[in-house]
Amino acid sequence: MTDPRESELLASVPTGLLINGEWRQATGGRTVAVNDPATGDVIHEIADATVDDGVAAMDAAAEAFPSWAATPARERAEILRRAFDLLQERKEDVALLMTLEMGKPLAEARGEVAYGGEFLRWFSEVTAHTQGRYGANPEGTGRMIVSHHPVGPCYLITPWNFPLAMATRKIAPALAAGCTVVIKPATLTPLTTLFFAQILQDAGVPAGVVNVVTTTDTGPVSERIISDPRLRKLSFTGSTPVGVKLLQQAAPGVLRTSMELGGNAPFVVFEDADLDKAVEGAMLAKFRNIGQACTAANRFLVQRGIVEDFTNRVTERVRAMKVGRGTEEGVQIGPLIDDRAVDKAKTLVGDAVERGATVTTGGAPVDGPGTFFEPTVVADVQPGSDILREEIFGPVLAIVPFDDEDDAVRLANDTEYGLVSYVFTESFARGQRMIDRLETGMMGLNVGVVSNAAAPFGGWKQSGLGREGGDEGIHEYLQTKYTLTANP
Ligand code: NAD
Repeated sequence: MTDPRESELLASVPTGLLINGEWRQATGGRTVAVNDPATGDVIHEIADATVDDGVAAMDAAAEAFPSWAATPARERAEILRRAFDLLQERKEDVALLMTLEMGKPLAEARGEVAYGGEFLRWFSEVTAHTQGRYGANPEGTGRMIVSHHPVGPCYLITPWNFPLAMATRKIAPALAAGCTVVIKPATLTPLTTLFFAQILQDAGVPAGVVNVVTTTDTGPVSERIISDPRLRKLSFTGSTPVGVKLLQQAAPGVLRTSMELGGNAPFVVFEDADLDKAVEGAMLAKFRNIGQACTAANRFLVQRGIVEDFTNRVTERVRAMKVGRGTEEGVQIGPLIDDRAVDKAKTLVGDAVERGATVTTGGAPVDGPGTFFEPTVVADVQPGSDILREEIFGPVLAIVPFDDEDDAVRLANDTEYGLVSYVFTESFARGQRMIDRLETGMMGLNVGVVSNAAAPFGGWKQSGLGREGGDEGIHEYLQTKYTLTANP
């Protein structure tokens, strides 16, 4: 039996597609179910868009673009700021909705509302300050004007693991820049985006500026939108294989793209680290979002002299973690998103053990309803184990010993990914060297979480292209024009 507060909240979520400022059902009336991964129960039924619906959303975004692009930056900023305020007013609802459809503990869902909301506030501040430049050319023969212009209608595709923040991290800079959007949230967790889209409507976003398409026909709907000559930008967050496919689809139209893809973050602990800080950082970097984050520490590289102490300390902490539905008081580990995720964690642990690793706690799926996996520590993971190569995307902490700094750098960089790294050392000089030597777009030095709306989030190597957040974030949605004028 569902809790009355949960039922009431779910009943308030729009179930349609948002196209040109109106909520409407999918062509032909198709719908798709949304589940609670903690119970396996169907909690909602939403519209399942066809290719025609995708085209209608694209029509709306294209039609709304000229007037939104011409709206003064201050006005756009004020709408974003109102959306930020409304999100704060409804933060408990948004947090609960995320816990219901995605499974993360409520305290973490509240944290995501705070983090995700900051993109609205940050880009409302950035937009009026984003200016071009004007000056004489070096020869003194003319004046150069460099101006920035919104790229046009954008297609945004988001994953299931951060249902709010992945949407705000794209929508806020796009709207701040003067672009219109069609957003396609993950089919597993669409409710937060639908609810947030209503907040944007309430904040005064004009019709057609934000359109939402939820669909199980992801491939065909996306391909049609991406090949539309009116589309000017594709921004994707998700796995690297899907990102590669989308880059191929974007190539014929030389479409601008931003790609926030997978990660395989090293978490390096040197003997000169403060071990209390390192253990604290490890718990955050590994178990936030039940391990289902692109920034999740995937490989714990620990210097040999402290590896036993580190392993014992994290094992003790992990053994004490509370597993359960995210709505229960004190729960730290909710369910994984689906059966496939549980199977993957199980297979990766099995492979590591077969190759000589030791499970010090956890290691198995949890019996009963829902898709839970025990919080796990795997020590002494051997080179060549799949767990060191693939994204675990689950609550499994894998430890590998190393000998010296060169060894640590070699192991840390031994991956095609390059999103984020974490380094724990009390040596300032070593910390500086690691900034130079690790091949990642972001780094946490003695901290286990780096994300901030004011900072440029993004990866090197196969972790992606472009940046979200910071001053850089708005430029993903702007194009530059240089004009030479004759001297006056
Ligand atoms: P996914 O690639 O399976 O799906 C992401 C989105 O793409 C979803 O909306 C999905 O419906 C859509 N999609 C899937 N196939 C598609 C296709 N053929 N055409 C168009 N769209 C398609 O990833 P996921 O499982 O939802 O998310 C987990 C992945 O996302 C992990 O690899 C994680 O590292 C990555 N991620 C990266 C970041 C980042 O900022 N770098 C942030 C969060 C998640």
